[in-house]
Amino acid sequence: MYWEKLSTETIQKSVFDALDKNLNYNTEPILGLPGTYLDQGQFYSFPFLKEAPFLSVLVNNPNHIGCHTYSAGEKYFSGTHQLEIDLLRICAEEILDAPKSGYDGYVAPGGTEANIQAQWMYRNYFMREKNAGLNEIGVIFSEDAHYSVYKASNLLGIMPITVKVGHDNREVLLDDLKKKLEDARNKGIRYLIVHLSMGTTIFGSVDSPASFLELVKRYFTHYFVHVDAAFGGFIYPFSAQKNELSFQNPEISSITIDGHKMLQSPYGTGVFLCRKSLIEYVQTPEASYVYGSDFTLCGSRSGANAVSMWMILMTYGSEGWSQMIRQLINRTDYLCKALDEIGIKYFRNPDMNIVAIDCNEISEELADKYYLVADNYLQPQWRKVVVMTHVTQEMIDSFLTDLKKEKQIVNQ
Ligand SMILES: *Cc1c(COP(=O)(O)O)cnc(C)c1O
Repeated sequence: MYWEKLSTETIQKSVFDALDKNLNYNTEPILGLPGTYLDQGQFYSFPFLKEAPFLSVLVNNPNHIGCHTYSAGEKYFSGTHQLEIDLLRICAEEILDAPKSGYDGYVAPGGTEANIQAQWMYRNYFMREKNAGLNEIGVIFSEDAHYSVYKASNLLGIMPITVKVGHDNREVLLDDLKKKLEDARNKGIRYLIVHLSMGTTIFGSVDSPASFLELVKRYFTHYFVHVDAAFGGFIYPFSAQKNELSFQNPEISSITIDGHKMLQSPYGTGVFLCRKSLIEYVQTPEASYVYGSDFTLCGSRSGANAVSMWMILMTYGSEGWSQMIRQLINRTDYLCKALDEIGIKYFRNPDMNIVAIDCNEISEELADKYYLVADNYLQPQWRKVVVMTHVTQEMIDSFLTDLKKEKQIVNQ
């Protein structure tokens, strides 16, 4: 895995050069393009924009509609499109081990859309290539999967199939998986979308593809595997010794990886990636006025989002980012070691920065004081700590001091 770190000046220059290659409403006689020139009463050329490449792109408002790994796209914005293509290359080839140019993708509004996009694509594949009916297609996932998986199956009219996990280790229960696969077959499901997580939202647990797929294969010949790395995609590939959920695994056909979680980019930066020869199944041929056609759920989208992610990745370089993740993992190790010493029950994947604490071990007041998110607000069983960059050693120490005090009172 390697990408270069660039200086602030080089990043600024690259973004402004890209903007220069885009169409300029101030200098070109643009009669036919609607709506994308921002309201000049509100968004005039603020003088400070010269120093602010991201805000300049935001105000310039290039439209990144379409899928630029597939076709050239709207020629009006080719400068910033190129930065999106470079961003997707880094995510796919460097972070997620895709073969060179062997993928398509785009910067979606978020992980939710990227997950919907995956199910949409496979559903259409099964319908078009296998003549499948909606009632013959299902999507299977662990109960810890993100709720967007239900949103997608609901929208697409296919059957959601939830598999139970072990309470303490958050691993898929293979007996239950077997049972659910049998049930699904008996109900007439013939085509399966397997939705695996690289870092679940509440636990940071990571699915093991081998045992899951071995069982799937016993019951289904036709299936696709999507990996939801919305949360874990910018951590796990950097922290884990071996990542079985990358494109190096031939079973995996698509991956969601969000910028607006771990990469700390603005909202609007989900990334959808899939292997070549699949995105065609979500092409909308009727999008005839869009140069390069449309393959996305969202349609128009701001190029500023892609540029924000590109700038962050360039600021760190691969080595800088790996170091950052190492620090977060070490800080999480520190927290877990202290929890072990106090004797607090928790779940944590050792390559992730999420620690889910058993609710029996911590008072609601303390969990609320530190804003620990619950797995379920109506009936909380776990409250999680997420060790992000803003979570300092001092904050962790203060939390641990409070926790120790509470524990001592309880033990007295
Ligand atoms: C946050 C998250 C999502 C959804 O992402 P949005 O960007 O909020 O749409 C999907 N999957 C996982 C695992 C997540 O953590």
